[in-house]
Formats: sequence, C-alpha cells, structure tokens
Amino acid sequence: MAATSLPIAPVNHAGLPLPDIYARVSRHVPAIEWPALADDVAAILELKKTRNAVILAHNYQAPEIFHTVADIVGDSLALAREAVTVDADVIVLAGVHFMAETAKLLNPGKTVLIPDMRAGCSLADSITAADVRGLREKYPGVPIVTYVNTSAAVKAESDLCCTSGNAVDVVRSLNAPRVLMIPDEFLAQNVQSLVPEVEILTWAGHCEVHEQFTPADIHAVRESYPGVTVIAHPECPPDVVAESDFSGSTAMMMNFVTEKRPRQVVLVTECSMGDNIAAANPDIEFIKPCNLCPHMKRMSLKNIRNALETLTHEVTVEPDLADRARLAVERMLAVRPR
Ligand code: SF4
Repeated sequence: MAATSLPIAPVNHAGLPLPDIYARVSRHVPAIEWPALADDVAAILELKKTRNAVILAHNYQAPEIFHTVADIVGDSLALAREAVTVDADVIVLAGVHFMAETAKLLNPGKTVLIPDMRAGCSLADSITAADVRGLREKYPGVPIVTYVNTSAAVKAESDLCCTSGNAVDVVRSLNAPRVLMIPDEFLAQNVQSLVPEVEILTWAGHCEVHEQFTPADIHAVRESYPGVTVIAHPECPPDVVAESDFSGSTAMMMNFVTEKRPRQVVLVTECSMGDNIAAANPDIEFIKPCNLCPHMKRMSLKNIRNALETLTHEVTVEPDLADRARLAVERMLAVRPR
C-alpha cells in the first residue's frame, strides 16, 4: 500500500435527515430493518455533539456503521494519520483494539473508547514484547519494522512501524541490507518480492482472515467470471497475491477500483470492503469470495451508542511505554513515499 492518497471520510451526516442517511445503506440494509437501526443512528449523531466526540471507522466496518455515523474512515495508515489531527474530546474507534491503542498513543490527552474490548486481532496476538526483545538479541543491529497490527508493548520494542500501505517505503527508507519485518509473515514475503535488494526476516504471524484464501479460490472465480479483476490484500499468502491482478492495502484497493473502474472485481479481503465501495460504484459488480473478520464484526451501532452514553471502554497505555511506542509510530508517519 504505497498509500498516501487516502480515501478518507465520506462523512458529514450532520444535519442530514435520516432518510438521506438510509439511502447510503439501502443496498445492504433492508427497509424493514432500518427503523431499529435509525434509532441508534439518531442517538449516536446526537451523542457525538454532546460528548464532542468523533468516530474513526476502519474500512472493514459494516456499511451501517461506515456510511452512517463514522466521521473518518480509512485503512490503518489513514486512521493513524487522521487520529493526529482530530479535534475532539472523545475518540471512538470502530475497529480493533490495536487501532484504539494507536489513536491513544497519538492523542494522549483525549479519551479513546472502543465499544467492545474483545475486538482483538490474530496478528496482534501472535507476538509479545518479550519475543521482540528476543529477536533483537538474536539479530543485533538489524532494524525492526513492526506492522501496526500489534500491541503498544510490541511497538515500544520496535524501531518503527509500518502499515500494508507504506511497508515498501518504510523498508526502503532504512537503507539497510537486512530488516526484521514482524509479525505478518505473508506481508513480509510480499514486500520482499518488491524490495529484492533487502533481506527481510520475518515472524510466523498471520491474519486469520487473509490466510484462508488460496490460489484455488482465485482460479475458481476466474473460471466463473472470465475477465474479472482480482485484487488481493498483501496479508494474503504470496501465492494468492501472485495470482491476482493487483495487490494493495484497503485504501489502495479503493483507489484502484475508483480509478480503473473494472466491470467486475473480486476483493480478496474482508467482506465489508466490497460492500462499502459498492454504494459509491453502482456500475461495478463486486463478486465474492471474501471472509469476515470476527473481531471487526464485534462493532455495532448498539455498542457504539453505549460507548458514547457510558464513556466506556476506555483504552489507556502506560505513559513510559506510550512514549516509546509513539516514537515508532511517528517515525513511520515521517516516512515519505519514494
Ligand atoms: S482482518 Fe486480520 S489483521 Fe485485520 S483485524 Fe481482523 S484478524 Fe486482524
């Protein structure tokens, strides 16, 4: 994801009547279900004003969150960048826990809430701070680039972070012959193919959503839909990426679809991506397969409303650790595309 052009924020429901908000999600939410959701949407829009709150939502959030109450939407890189500029007392992170931690690192004075504390990530769970210290001992002098899909404790042990949108630029920015890129083995392998001049060492962490895709899935979809454009997220195994027409972060996927306007496309990633782009691109047919992320799907209008009503669940990071983790994130944000 050489992503610096960010598909951020289709927001501003402020003042929009509820029927107009419904028009944004009518392809995904049956009219009969809307009244129940509309009550939560209206309450959330009101609560955002009284709490001086903003909602940051990842591209994998369901359309009824993404298109109705979110103030800023994007991939991890976009959310990290935008989190710095947020002018609010309260940030609600409609995503997973490491994203809320990153928002807190960048906004230590603000209240950062996650509607469900159980929203984790298999990549974040795959590595600990002690593991990173072990790698540093084993590979002295080798810079450690850590995917943002990790805990603040792991970031704090790292030299700098990356996202799938800037991983190539981050690795190149180091001008080092060897780089440790953790914890996503597939992302590291996919980056390795784009940066052959650097030896990339990795860790055996995987995204439980993207690791499920296989080349056979791509073959099957190409057979059923001749001419279909296949776009794979770089958390997919390298043999899946090799079978695809394009690979990039969720932001890059959106840009690709918007610019190239393929007639039929399959997004080899989390299911809500296609749903969220489809509304703005009715002329493009979005074909499955896709897989759901159970952690992202812990977010709902109900628990976002509850988070704003009760100001729970607050995400905090111990100050010393936060300072070190923030440095790794800020070093990433300072990297410019080459
Ligand atoms: S899609 Fe994968 S990387 Fe993203 S939050 Fe879910 S488990 Fe983690």
